[in-house]
Amino acid sequence: MTCEAGVSPQTILSAGNRMALDDCFSFACNPALDCFGRCCRDVAIVLTPYDVLRLKRALGIDSTEFLEKYTLSPQAPGQKFPIVMLRMREGDKLCPFLSAAETPGCQGCSVYAHRPWACRMYPLGAAEPKTPTPADQPFHFVIRENLCHGHDRNEPVSVRQWMESQGAETFEMMGAGFKELTLHDFWDGDRPLTQPQAAMFYMACYDLDRFRRFVFETRFLQLFELDEARIEALRADDEELLEFAIQWLRFAIFGERSMKMRRGRQ
Ligand code: SF4
Ligand code: SF4
Repeated sequence: MTCEAGVSPQTILSAGNRMALDDCFSFACNPALDCFGRCCRDVAIVLTPYDVLRLKRALGIDSTEFLEKYTLSPQAPGQKFPIVMLRMREGDKLCPFLSAAETPGCQGCSVYAHRPWACRMYPLGAAEPKTPTPADQPFHFVIRENLCHGHDRNEPVSVRQWMESQGAETFEMMGAGFKELTLHDFWDGDRPLTQPQAAMFYMACYDLDRFRRFVFETRFLQLFELDEARIEALRADDEELLEFAIQWLRFAIFGERSMKMRRGRQ
């Protein structure tokens, strides 16, 4: 995609492009626009663990099948941990969840109620300093692309209003633990993940149903102290399991005391 104002790091970090929650921008998106759905083609959408959880549940399939069918996990030089991206269709490069444009009554996204955080936020991006200071706080910025005609509308909306209207808060809340994990000081060191650690990270963050089997079908529960209520919650509740997966990764990779081993197992 090409950008009018660009989204280079320099542009994003420039003071003029930084928006606080109550700052406004002009934008409106609706199915009547001639660009409707163009933003869902040939686009790089990084999925958070909560995005994967919501999509696999919405589709009624397990996380392993979802990851195999709909995602890629690219590896770039210097990349610190596994990431997962939506895989565009071969050929036309459309998002697999975009309803065919020729479908009568096409409403665009077939997983709209469960669409990923990045889709909800667009045309806003978010940036977060690793160590916020009074002068360097988290902020949002507007992404301007030639293909998107939503900017042509004179309908001011604040960042906060946009996020509320898109149901982004739940995704922000459920993504907080993962964000903390990815901003951890561990990644500043010169300690790349070993292959088993990378595989553990991928499973715990993204392949949640496989992680559940790891917890319940191995010696895992014999090694760690967990009360019965928590164990039952992990068995049945994906959100609880994702929170626990992050807790486990902090123990297993960062060496934090986020888990308690049973006596005699240390
Ligand atoms: S206005 Fe922008 S976000 Fe909305 S459909 Fe058009 S390209 Fe996509
Ligand atoms: S998930 Fe939905 S909103 Fe996001 S790119 Fe695909 S079709 Fe578009």
